[in-house]
Amino acid sequence: MNSPSLSTPATAAVDVIGVGAGFSGLYLAHRLTTAGWTFAGFEAGPDVGGTWFWNTYPGARCDVESIYYSYSFDETLQQEWTWSQRFAPQAEILSYINHVADRFDLRKHFTFDTRVVGATWNAADRLWEVQLDNGETRRSRYLISGAGGLSTPKDFDVPGLENFTGLQVSTSRWNISLDDLAGKRVAVIGTGSSGVQAIPLIAQVAGHLTVFQRTPNYVMPARNAALATEQIDSIKNDYPTIREECRHSPGGIPEYPVTDNAFDVSDEERQRRYEAAYERSGFNGVGAEFADLLTNPEANRTASEFIHDKIRKIVEDPATAELLVPKYHPLGAKRSVFGTDYYETYNRPNVSLVSLRDEPIQTMTENAIVTSKGTYEVDAVVLAIGFDAFTGPLYGLDLTGASGRKLQDAWRDGIRSYLGMMAADFPNFFMVGGPLSPALVSNVVVTIEQAVDWIAELLEHARDNDAAVIEATAEAEEEWVNITEATVAPTLYATTDSWYRGSNVDGKPDTFMGYVGGVGKYRRMCTEIAKRGYPGVQLDGEAQSRHLGPIHQEIS
Ligand code: NAP
Repeated sequence: MNSPSLSTPATAAVDVIGVGAGFSGLYLAHRLTTAGWTFAGFEAGPDVGGTWFWNTYPGARCDVESIYYSYSFDETLQQEWTWSQRFAPQAEILSYINHVADRFDLRKHFTFDTRVVGATWNAADRLWEVQLDNGETRRSRYLISGAGGLSTPKDFDVPGLENFTGLQVSTSRWNISLDDLAGKRVAVIGTGSSGVQAIPLIAQVAGHLTVFQRTPNYVMPARNAALATEQIDSIKNDYPTIREECRHSPGGIPEYPVTDNAFDVSDEERQRRYEAAYERSGFNGVGAEFADLLTNPEANRTASEFIHDKIRKIVEDPATAELLVPKYHPLGAKRSVFGTDYYETYNRPNVSLVSLRDEPIQTMTENAIVTSKGTYEVDAVVLAIGFDAFTGPLYGLDLTGASGRKLQDAWRDGIRSYLGMMAADFPNFFMVGGPLSPALVSNVVVTIEQAVDWIAELLEHARDNDAAVIEATAEAEEEWVNITEATVAPTLYATTDSWYRGSNVDGKPDTFMGYVGGVGKYRRMCTEIAKRGYPGVQLDGEAQSRHLGPIHQEIS
């Protein structure tokens, strides 16, 4: 096959530099090299896997069902791989990713243990100069980030942590064995998805576990189970239909069709439906039972109170139960959390709960956490405090755009992008599932495949037009920012502090970092944009103003 490479300047080693070897980076490498582009991938870790390489804490598993949280691009791949459980554990997902890397011979495209630490647009040569942490500089026509949204751990902003001399580990960089916690007095700080998964397993081995909770979450039962052979056969027979459904759904999983609102039905009927949804669980569970749960606070209250009652029934100590009842945000407005035996764990005699809302941490000593009300001696501290989502990994690339401005400066007052894939003033730079894409609130693998395909086709479009430089216009970026804001504004996401809006990181601008109009609508819109010759995108700095226009309103 003839290489489709552009007449690349002699100084450019490759057509594309890709960042990361997780779900995004691997599909990027496969898609682009199959199309004949030269590709060099850099991965900070020693092997493939991304999130699933690093997050090896006890209990780590995906809360999107395995059959949906997997690649759809190759029919043979999906026929030959068999998931063991409804929600695959981390080790199984990692072995799937390794299988994909081996099967498509993708490792050869990556340099491991090598981090991209800087990248500058060279306007004269029309390429990116990419700095690596080994001191080398590499050049490429295109730079594509597959660095993920949740790959940069949040700073360990617990006061006095540096004083603590006991065992310290974070869920996102887990490097001990669960046995290392056996018999110890353990503190877990943080009760998001990671903490909720780890806590029940740590409780089983710890001498005593104290959970330090800042904001109680709605934890719904994951209801994980082994997948029976008949289920697997039926899924495999149906895969093409299932994948198509996911691609055109709101969240990247088959849609649970709900059209009625919470107050359209009687109290008894509503309760009955919540019970059924609670049994079903997952993202199509309680939070999806009525159409207005994320837009009408009163409707949401009915679902929230349903979960409150569940917590009070499960947790035997009424005072602990009250601390666990989530009362600071509506159900679903922060990332939903699914657990196994989470609330039951608080019935164990070796587990206690400290509410940091009532007694904030003041400092730590060499062997204790000191709150405003007491001193808790511990041998080990587990941090489950989350990530500097989306912007953390991108700012880590330290990009300098065409006008000499850094990405972190361009986004200082608000995070911006065109379709979550491009940024004005950063030519030939692309993001797979970046901020303001549907990645934030969807089955991310569906968004990743769509983004990689769309970007690959845009590169081909530029090549067909003999264009070397692809850039989102400032007008189109502004239009997309307005669309994402208008789409989220009527929802409870817009008024709830969460990592979705950067509230968990000091100084981060308050931008809801996703598009909530649905992966299906987004896909159809991106397809239409391509069909219409890429409004919003300039090739080789062509003069005319290129607006996105009314496409978003026209697409259903
Ligand atoms: P997270 O949802 O951001 O939770 C962090 C927790 O730590 C929160 O309870 C937070 O309290 C608390 N916290 C943060 N800083 C603190 C501090 N300085 N002192 C005390 N408490 C502090 O992080 P995560 O649990 O790692 O999950 C992040 C995302 O990763 C999830 O929402 C999900 O998208 C993904 N994830 C998915 C899975 C899965 O598929 N099952 C598993 C893990 C992670 P506040 O709420 O008050 O800020």
